[in-house]
Amino acid sequence: MTAPAPILIWFRRDLRLADHGPIADAVASGAPMIPVYIHAPEADGDWAPGAASRWWLHHSLQRLDADLRGRGSRLILRQGPSADTLVELARETGAASVYWHRRVEPAAIQLDAAVTRSLRNAGVDPRSYGGALLQDPALLRNKSGGPYKVFTPFYNHLLTLPPPPAPAPAPARIHSPSRMPPSMKLGNLGLLPTFDWAGGLREAWTPGEAGAHQALQKFLRGPAAQYPTDRDRPDRQGTSALSPHLHFGEISPTTVWHTAHNTSASMPQAATSWLRQLAWREFSSHLLFHFPESASAPLRPQFQSFPWREDPGRLQAWRDGSTGYPIVDAGMRELWVTGWMHNRVRMIAASFLVKDLLVSWLEGARWFWDTLVDADLANNTMGWQWTAGCGADAAPFFRIFNPVSQGRKFDPDGAYVRTWLPALRDVPTPYIHEPWKAPPAALQQAGLQLGNHYPERIVHHHIARMRAMDALHSLRG
Ligand code: FAD
Repeated sequence: MTAPAPILIWFRRDLRLADHGPIADAVASGAPMIPVYIHAPEADGDWAPGAASRWWLHHSLQRLDADLRGRGSRLILRQGPSADTLVELARETGAASVYWHRRVEPAAIQLDAAVTRSLRNAGVDPRSYGGALLQDPALLRNKSGGPYKVFTPFYNHLLTLPPPPAPAPAPARIHSPSRMPPSMKLGNLGLLPTFDWAGGLREAWTPGEAGAHQALQKFLRGPAAQYPTDRDRPDRQGTSALSPHLHFGEISPTTVWHTAHNTSASMPQAATSWLRQLAWREFSSHLLFHFPESASAPLRPQFQSFPWREDPGRLQAWRDGSTGYPIVDAGMRELWVTGWMHNRVRMIAASFLVKDLLVSWLEGARWFWDTLVDADLANNTMGWQWTAGCGADAAPFFRIFNPVSQGRKFDPDGAYVRTWLPALRDVPTPYIHEPWKAPPAALQQAGLQLGNHYPERIVHHHIARMRAMDALHSLRG
């Protein structure tokens, strides 16, 4: 009897072993398995992974390799065009099929089609799976048969569908061929920064599947019960911090969905509220899948002619966290140090850029893309277009966040601001979100000289607000 031909498992944004359809099927087939990751940044089109994502990817691949080795396998690393590399690997190893998870980004969809064609031409069986999302975005349609553009009906539809199948555990052993093909060294992929700026990331995160499950357990043991009230509070650790793990597929959305569902008896409100956020992730992928141009163009066409300003100086101040508005600056510093920013603060900081500074949402999206460890084309595009008012089901442009009142409401004691802006540490609470209003004696006592230790405001919000409304009216006129 001849031994079955090996199966190539093409890892992409699914850097895990549990609840992994391609691996489960390969294991069940009894064929030897060859896990491969191909470094092909050009395959992401205009959105090749940014610096923080590359840092995460390096560590996640390292963990995946270790986890595979623990099961009698290892990760083969290659670099080059994905389709050619897979065909070459199939020739080298005698593999008869390639299994992988599909992605929703436009460049990845094109790549999937090209890979499928090349493999078929080479006589290799391609098999793709949909585990990146809870439901296949191609199958979700509204009552008129089109894609959803409004979240609530999308969510209600999602709730009527049969639950995703229960997540499968990771295999205990993986059957490998007698000889594995050669692999590149991880360090040679050049994912880590040449100048080490990643100390804050190392301190904040544990990339990899085990890190994802630890984050989930930590959330369930602590903040989950207060999620409905605390999720909007950047001064509390009220959310799961699972977003980078979900982005890199170190934990499946199905696992998160079932976990939330299992907690619904003990904390029904928290489970519902958390599932709803997971549904926003699903919605953003649905939008990107059906409107692939939305990553670089507004979904509402009337925003094509919005009078955005070129303002390199203020854009830089925003990036540096030097706008003079504490809640915005604290968020931008948190982002720079940890590669992550609280969702409420993302909305405030994004609103400040597009409405107070009138700088295009795409400039902000690109900065987030480079600095976020969870940079995700679907979520980032939707987050920015929502804030700028030009996306599907977006906040209207005229709803302009006031950074002072937002700060007071969601960081009432200023604990978040004090953490990320040490210069403001001793500013009395009534002035922490508007230090320019503090009496000179209070500033002196706090050891703060505005314009020296902390910048003066780069715009006055009430004036900027009027300018933003004029810009909006020019669009209508
Ligand atoms: P939790 O509150 O614990 O939620 C669980 C999961 O649900 C998250 O991990 C995430 O996958 C999903 N989720 C939660 N909120 C949202 C949301 N508003 N939209 C879509 N999915 C959501 N999220 C990213 O993952 N990548 C991005 O690049 C990204 N860019 C954003 C840009 C802007 C301008 C804004 C306003 C939001 C952006 N978000 C992005 C959404 C959101 O801020 C993060 O997903 C959230 O802060 C992650 O924290 P968490 O894992 O603790 O979330």
